[in-house]
Amino acid sequence: MLCALLLAAYWGRRWVNHARYELTPLIVPPSAQTSALFRPSAADYVRRLVRDMRDAIAPSGRPRYAVLTFDDGPYAVTTPALLAELNRLRVPADFFFIGRNALEQPAIAARVAAAGMEIGNHTLSHPQMTTLGFAAQLEEVADGATTLRRITGHEIRLFRPPHGNYDAATVQATQAAGQTLVLWDIEPGDWRPVTPDFIVQHVLTHAKSPAVFLLHDGTESTIAALPRIVAAYRAAGYEFVTISDLMRRLSLDDINDPLTVRISP
Ligand SMILES: [Zn+2]
Repeated sequence: MLCALLLAAYWGRRWVNHARYELTPLIVPPSAQTSALFRPSAADYVRRLVRDMRDAIAPSGRPRYAVLTFDDGPYAVTTPALLAELNRLRVPADFFFIGRNALEQPAIAARVAAAGMEIGNHTLSHPQMTTLGFAAQLEEVADGATTLRRITGHEIRLFRPPHGNYDAATVQATQAAGQTLVLWDIEPGDWRPVTPDFIVQHVLTHAKSPAVFLLHDGTESTIAALPRIVAAYRAAGYEFVTISDLMRRLSLDDINDPLTVRISP
């Protein structure tokens, strides 16, 4: 009896930790309630528990979508190479451009947009957002979007904070600018000097559904890893889409509740 109670307590604790981590959403639209982001309520945990139980009893037949997102460009050499590889593989992607980089490479930024890729906003100057107050954060989000819209001619609705660091003011600023905060659920850490093999291995052993990859524009290893990533995910039944497509095809609850998937290399 005591044993069973201890085991239940142990699993309960593990589940709460897992839920706290999983309650961090992938996508926060302008209209979303954001209090749960920083302090999940008891009701959020209960909703989470119900969904986890349902997933365990009857695994969701949710269609599998993957989104490749590339932060930090555009760059003179690597962005055209990355674009050519994506075109060759026939996969769409999201490019979270830094406004200042786009001002330096406006023709490349426009070419990526004209090729049908989705353009997101990665601030004007790539600051550490959590060191700034609300007004300065809003300026970075709004000026980044305005700059990218002027250069690409596309409406910019998606925002990703530099280094993935954000606080309550970042979320408020993003929403005040009418933008959707976009995070990720798979991150091979390709901003470090890693090999293509390492990137492929990581994304195959950390598969989710939906799979939103955080990758970086400007990394040769990432471009070299793409063919194997795309082939393995397609073989596992994934369709590659953009963030906007994903939001049209899956409910926000499903997007923000990624399932763990096993993919064989
Ligand atoms: Zn960045």
